[in-house]
Amino acid sequence: MAAHVPTMLAMIIVSSLMMAASMAVVGWGRRRDGLGRWAAALLVNAIGHGLIMLRGLVPDLLSVVLGNLLLSCVFVGMIAAIRQFQGRPAGWGLLLVPPALVTGFVIAFIDNFAARVSFVGLVISLQAVWALATALERRDATVGRGQWLLVAGLALEAVVLSGRALLALSSTAVASGILQASALQTLTFLATFSVVLISSMGFVFMARDQADENNRIMAAIDPLTGVANRRSLISALDRDVSRAVRTREPIALMMVDIDHFKRVNDRYGHPVGDQVLCHVVEVLRGRVRAQDLVGRYGGEEFMVVLPDTTLLGAEQLARELCRAVAESRCRIGSTEGGSDTRTEPGGTNIAVTVSIGVFGGRLETGDSWDMLIAAADRALYQAKENGRNRVEVATGLRRPSAQRANLDNPETHPVSRY
Ligand code: GH3
Ligand code: MG
Ligand code: MG
Repeated sequence: MAAHVPTMLAMIIVSSLMMAASMAVVGWGRRRDGLGRWAAALLVNAIGHGLIMLRGLVPDLLSVVLGNLLLSCVFVGMIAAIRQFQGRPAGWGLLLVPPALVTGFVIAFIDNFAARVSFVGLVISLQAVWALATALERRDATVGRGQWLLVAGLALEAVVLSGRALLALSSTAVASGILQASALQTLTFLATFSVVLISSMGFVFMARDQADENNRIMAAIDPLTGVANRRSLISALDRDVSRAVRTREPIALMMVDIDHFKRVNDRYGHPVGDQVLCHVVEVLRGRVRAQDLVGRYGGEEFMVVLPDTTLLGAEQLARELCRAVAESRCRIGSTEGGSDTRTEPGGTNIAVTVSIGVFGGRLETGDSWDMLIAAADRALYQAKENGRNRVEVATGLRRPSAQRANLDNPETHPVSRY
C-alpha cells in the first residue's frame, strides 16, 4: 500500500504541533521534568517535515539540508528531555555530533537521493536507539508504565528507519524522490507518526507518574528526618498488628523520646535542635534490622515497629539503642558550648539521651495498633519517672472493650505526652 506522501507529512506536522502545544501548556513552569524540551523537539519535528514537504518549492538548501538537519535534531531534543527528566546533564556536545554528520553528508551527496536516505536513516535510527538506551539506563528509578510506551515508540522508529536505510540502495524499494509514494515511504512516515503519538504520550505519562510518586513520598515521609511520618507509621503498625493477630507471631513496639530536648532548643536554638533530631534518627536507623521501621511519631518522639520480635528481643535492642544514643555525639558547626557538650576544634559535640518504652508479645483477636502504642507509652512514662536515659517495658495490653471509641482513627489519637 502506497499512501499519499504529502498527506502523511501533513499528519505528522499537525500531530507534532498539537502534541508540542499540549505539552507546552501542561509543562509550563515545570522546568525540570523534560516536558519543555520534548515539546521543543516536536516543534522541530514539525518544521523539519514541513521543509521536506516543500521539496521542489523551496531551495534544496532549505528542504534537503536544513530539513534533514532538523529531523536529526528531533532526537537531540528527545534525549536531552529524557536526561532532564532523569536529573542528568544533557551532554549537548556529544548529542550534536549526529546532526553535524547528517549535515556534512547531505551537502556532499545532495544529488544522490538513495545514498542520503540510507545515511540519514541510519544515523536517525541510531539516535532512536540512543534515546531508547538513555530511557532504559535509569528504568529502575522511573516509576509507572509510561516509560514502556516511550520505549515502544522509539524501538519502532529505530527498526523502521534502519530497515529503510538498508533497503535504500535497492532502487525498487525506495522511491526516487522523497515525495513519491511507495510502501516503504508509507511505513516510514507511519512509524514517524506513531513515534510522535506513542512516545510523547509515554513521556507525559512518565512525568505524571513521577509527580504522583513524589506526592506519595511527600505524604509518607517526615521532611526533616527523612523517616516515616506519623501517618505512615500508624498504617504500617496497623498492617503488622493485623498480621501478628492472624499468624500469632510476636510483635514489639518502642516509643523513644529525647530527654530534656527543650533544653537543647533553648541553649542552641531550633536549627541545632533539628540537627540533633536527625542525629538520633541516624543512630536508631543504623542499629535496627531491615524489616524494622523507624519513624517520627511527633516532635522529639520516635517509634520503632519491630515485627516478629519478642519482648525480650525488643528490650535488648532498646537497651542497645539507649546506650548507643548516650555514647554518640551530635557534631554541629561553631556554636557556643554548654555544660553537657564537649567543645573540640572546628565545632561542638552535643550529647543527648533517650528514654524508651517497650511493648512486646503475642496478640489476640481484637487487639489493635492503638493498644500497643498506649502500652509502649505507659512504659515510656515510667522510664521518664524513673530518671530518664533508660528502658522500661510494658507487661501487657489493657483491653478495655468499652474505651475503644475514637481510637481507631489515627487522626484523632492523642499525641503522646512526650
Ligand atoms: P522530657 O525529658 O520530659 O521528654 O523533656 P523534653 O524537654 O524533651 O520534653 P518537652 O515535651 O518539654 O519538650 C519537647 C520539645 O521538643 C519542645 C519542642 O519545642 C521541641 N520540638 C518539637 N518538635 C521539634 C522540631 O521539629 N525541631 C526542634 N528543634 N524542636 C522540636
Ligand atoms: Mg522529650
Ligand atoms: Mg516528647
